[in-house]
Amino acid sequence: MYHQPVLKNRRTLLERAEKFISAIYFTDCNLRGRLYGDSSPLETLSSFLSSKRITFTEASQQTFVPYKVGDTFGPTWWTCWFKATLKIPESWKGKEVHLLWESDGEAMVWRDEQPVQGLTKDGEKTSYILSDCLADEEPHSVTLYVEVACNGLFGAGQGSMIAAPDPNSKFSVQKAELVVFNRDVQDLLTDFEMLIDIVKELGEGEQRGYQALFTVNEMVNLCDPADPSSFCKAHSLAHVFFSQRNGESQHTAHAMGHCHIDSAWLWPYEETIRKCGRSWVTVIRLMEKNPDFVFTCSQAQQFQWVKSWYPGLFSQIQHYVKKGKFIPVGGTWVEMDGNLPSGESMVRQFLEGQRFFNHEFGIHCKEFWLPDTFGYSAQLPQIMQRCGISNFLTQKLSWNLHNTFFWEGLDGSKVLTHFPPGNSYEMKGKVEELVKTVKNNKDKGRANHSAVLFGFGDGGGGPTQLMLDRLRRVQDTDGLPKVRTSSPDQLFSQLQADSALLCTWTGELFLELHNGTYTTQAQIKRGNRHCEVLLHDIEIASSLALCRNGTFQYPVEKLQELWRLLLLNQFHDVIPGSCIEMVVEDALRYYEDIRSKGAALLHDALGALGSKGISTGVFNSLPWERHEVIQIQDSAGTPGLALVRVPSIGLSPVKDTQPVAPVSVTSQADGTVVMENGILQIVVNKDGTLASLYLIDAGREAISESCQGNQFIMFDDVPLYWDAWDVMDYHLQTRKPVVEVEQPPHVVSSGGLRGSVRFTLRISEKSTLTQEIVMDAMCPYIKFNTEVKWAESHKFLKVEFPVRVHGPNATYEIQFGHLQRPTHRNTSWDWARFEVWGHKWADLSEHNFGVALLNDCKYGYSVHKNTMTLSLLRAPKAPDVNADMGTHHFTYAVMPHTGSFQEASIIQSAYNLNFPLRPIWCPADTEPWSAFSVSNTAVILETIKQAEDRKGALVVRLYESHGSSVTATLSTALPVREAWHCDFLERDDPTQPARVTPEGITLNFSPFQIVSLLLTL
Ligand SMILES: [Zn+2]
Repeated sequence: MYHQPVLKNRRTLLERAEKFISAIYFTDCNLRGRLYGDSSPLETLSSFLSSKRITFTEASQQTFVPYKVGDTFGPTWWTCWFKATLKIPESWKGKEVHLLWESDGEAMVWRDEQPVQGLTKDGEKTSYILSDCLADEEPHSVTLYVEVACNGLFGAGQGSMIAAPDPNSKFSVQKAELVVFNRDVQDLLTDFEMLIDIVKELGEGEQRGYQALFTVNEMVNLCDPADPSSFCKAHSLAHVFFSQRNGESQHTAHAMGHCHIDSAWLWPYEETIRKCGRSWVTVIRLMEKNPDFVFTCSQAQQFQWVKSWYPGLFSQIQHYVKKGKFIPVGGTWVEMDGNLPSGESMVRQFLEGQRFFNHEFGIHCKEFWLPDTFGYSAQLPQIMQRCGISNFLTQKLSWNLHNTFFWEGLDGSKVLTHFPPGNSYEMKGKVEELVKTVKNNKDKGRANHSAVLFGFGDGGGGPTQLMLDRLRRVQDTDGLPKVRTSSPDQLFSQLQADSALLCTWTGELFLELHNGTYTTQAQIKRGNRHCEVLLHDIEIASSLALCRNGTFQYPVEKLQELWRLLLLNQFHDVIPGSCIEMVVEDALRYYEDIRSKGAALLHDALGALGSKGISTGVFNSLPWERHEVIQIQDSAGTPGLALVRVPSIGLSPVKDTQPVAPVSVTSQADGTVVMENGILQIVVNKDGTLASLYLIDAGREAISESCQGNQFIMFDDVPLYWDAWDVMDYHLQTRKPVVEVEQPPHVVSSGGLRGSVRFTLRISEKSTLTQEIVMDAMCPYIKFNTEVKWAESHKFLKVEFPVRVHGPNATYEIQFGHLQRPTHRNTSWDWARFEVWGHKWADLSEHNFGVALLNDCKYGYSVHKNTMTLSLLRAPKAPDVNADMGTHHFTYAVMPHTGSFQEASIIQSAYNLNFPLRPIWCPADTEPWSAFSVSNTAVILETIKQAEDRKGALVVRLYESHGSSVTATLSTALPVREAWHCDFLERDDPTQPARVTPEGITLNFSPFQIVSLLLTL
C-alpha cells in the first residue's frame, strides 16, 4: 500500500515529515500554513489603563480610548482593559471562528459581564472560540472585554526568572483579529506530531519507531495541503497506527489535567486570584467540549478566592465537581511548606481545607497533594491518616529511590505515596513524557500505574485542547504506555490493589536542595512562630474563659480569619522566603493583622478569665507548672521583675517568691564577666563569647576545650542560581568569626532575679550586632536576646557552640516530636545534611550529658561533630533584592544538662522560651487555678480549642514527645461530662469513648502518637 521507493534513510524521511508541519519552514506549501483560513480585523479596539485590579463592573464603566495593535502599555502590575467590537462575516457560515489574541501579559476575556476564557501566549492559549460552526442564528456582532494583567506567567523578573521584578516593563498586543480555524488541519497536525515524536522517542532500537516512520512518510505522500479532501486518507493511516493495541501487561499512565498555581511567588497574592480565574475558566471551556476530561485542583484558599471574586465561575466549577470532572484534591488550605509549619498548623491546614471542600462541594479529599515543596516532615503520615487521608502525591524529590512506595512516619503510620516518574506536574501530553514515565519508573514490576499530570501551571491556564487530543490518540497504542483519563482516587486504588511488592521508606523525605529556605526572610519566619504561639494562647485562654465565665463568647469567626491568614503565609514560596518583595510586604502585613487582632482577642479572653480584677496575675498556657522570672508593671506602671509560680494551664496572682539562689554578676579585672544562678555559671569574654558554660551540680564544663561558645560566624553565601533558596555546601569553606568589638560587655542587670550583660559587635562596615546575655534565677538556660542591624549582600550569619559532647547523632524537634540526623559525613546522604531544619530546639547528647540549643523564631541548624550551629540571617538578592535588610530581633538559648534531653526537660524549656507567661488582672483574693494537667512529662497537651460547629464542646490534642510508650492521665478542673476520641477533623469515634473518672481521663500512647479528644461540658 505504500508508495515506492522508500530508501533506508531514516534521517531524511523523519525530517521531511517534520518540515511538513513546521511553523518556521515551508509554511507556503506545508500543512501548518493551512491552519488558519480567512481573517477579518476587529471593528473597534479601545483600551483603559488601571493601576489597580478592579472588577469588571468598575472597568466597563470607564472611558476607553482607541488602541492600535502594537502600541505599548504598562507598567508592570497595572491592568489594561480592552473593549473589542467584532463583526463576523456572513460568508464564514459553517466555519469555526476564533478571536485570535496574542499579547504580552495574561489576559481574561469577558463576555456578557462574565469571564469566559483565559488567554496567555506562554500557556499556548491565544484563541477564544466564537463559534464551532457558524450558523445564521448565532450573533455575528459581539462586544468583548479583554483584561490584560501587566505581568507574565512568572511575574516580571528582570533578565532572569528569579530576578527582582522590573517595575517598568512595557506590554503590547501583537495580534487581535477574527480568523477561520481549520479544525481538520489541526487534527492532522496532531497525528503527524505524535507519529514524529514516536519515531524520535523510540529511537533506532525499536521496530515500532520504524513503523511510525513509514506511516508518517506515507501520510506526507497522501496529503495535499491545498486539497482538504486528501486529509482523510492520511488521517486514516494514522488511525490504523494508533489503533494497534498493547498487550495486557503494558504500564498505564493515569492522565489528569492540572494547573499548579503558586498562591504567591513572583507575583503578589492578589494576582493569584486572577491567575486562578483565568486558568479555571479555561478548564471549564475544555470540559464543555471534552466530556471525559478530568482536572485536579488543590488549595481550598484558591477556591475561596474564586468564590468571592468570580461567583458565576464558581457555580460552574461546583457543577463539574458534582460530575466528578473538576476534582478538588489535597485537603489542605494551601499547599504549605512541608518542614516549617508547626504540628498544630499542619493539622489546621487539613482541618480548614477538608472542611471547606466538604462545605462547598460535599467531598472529602483522600489524598494529600504537595508536588512542589522543599521536603516533607516525618510526622506528615500520621497527620494525614488522622485527617482521613491515606494517599500522598508529590514530585520534588527526584533523587528518591522509589516512585511508588509506602511512606512510614515517625509513629509508624503509613501512607501510600506516588511520585509521578515523568518527574513533572506540568506535562504536555507528549510522547516523550509517556516514554519517560515508563523508563524512569523506579518500581518497574512493582507498580504498573503512574500519574501523568498535564497542563501549564502558574496561570498558564492548565491543559489545552491539543494536550487532550495528543493523549486521546495514544490511549492504547502499541509501544507506548496505555493512557487513561483518571482521577487520583482511581490511580491510588489501582496502586493499593497491587501493592504487595512495594517498598517502604521510613522517616523524613529530606530535599537535598533549597536548605537556605530555613533561614531566608527571617521576619516571615518570626511572624509565623510568634503567631502560632499567639493563636495557641488565644484558643486556650478563650476555652478556659468559656468555662469560667458564662457571658464569654468564643471568637469563632475571628479566630478562623486569623488562622486562615497564618495558613496562607505557610504557602510553599512564602514561609520559605522564596518570594518577591511585594509578597513579603503582604505576608508581614498579615502577621501584623494576626498580632493586632489577636492581641485584642487574647485581652478579652484573659479579661474574662481573670474576672477583670485589679491585682496583677499571670496566665500560663503550658501544661506544666512554671517557676520563672517575668517582667511586670506595678499599679503605677513602673516595670520590675518578679519570680512567679503558675500552675499548669492556669493562672495565679503574682506573689513575689524568693529564689533559692539569687543570680550573682561579677565583673573581673580582665574585662570578663562571671554570672551564676546556682544551676549554671558562665564566663562572658570581652568579645561576648562564652569562655565557660558550667553546669554546677554535675561539675561539667559544656564548652569544648580552648574554644568559645556563642561565637558568631560570617560565611560567603553565593549559590549557583537559586539565590533565596540555596545555600551550597562550599559556603562552609568561607568561615570567618566575627571578632570586632564595638562595645565590650557591660552589666545591665546586676543580679538578684536577673543578671545580664550587653555588648555590641561590628559585623562589617554596614552591619552590627547587639546582644544581651541574660541569666535568670531558677532558669536552667542562658538567653541571648539579639538585635542585628543587617545590610549585607550574599552573606550568612550563624552562631556556633562547640560543646564538650561526643555523639554520632543530633536530635531536632519537628512537628509533634523529634528525630535524629548524623553529626558526621560518611555518605553523600549525610553530607547533604550540612544544613538542616528543626523547630524550637536541637540537642547533642552523649550518655548522661548533653547541650541543647533553643530558639524563638529560627529553623536552620547544623551540628557537625561537636559544633552546634544555629543559622541566623542570610542576604540573598533574588527574587527579593532587599531580602532581610534592616533590623532583626531574635532570641536563642543554650542549655547544658545531665541525663537525656527527655529527662532534662529540654522540650519543656523550649516551650517556655517560646510561650511567655502572660500578665492578667485578677481579684486580689484569686487562688492559683489549673484547668488541665497531665500526669506524665512525656505527654504534652498541645491544643485546647472549642470544637468546630459545637458550642459547649472542647477539642484537646496531646502528643507523646519522648518517643516512648506511656500511660498518662489528663486531669481537669473543668466540668467534663463525656469524652470521646476523635480524628483531627474532630469527627468523634463512637467506638472509642474515653473514660472520665474523678482522677481524669487515662490515655495510652505509643511513641510520638498524637491523640485528639472531644470533651463535652
Ligand atoms: Zn509551587
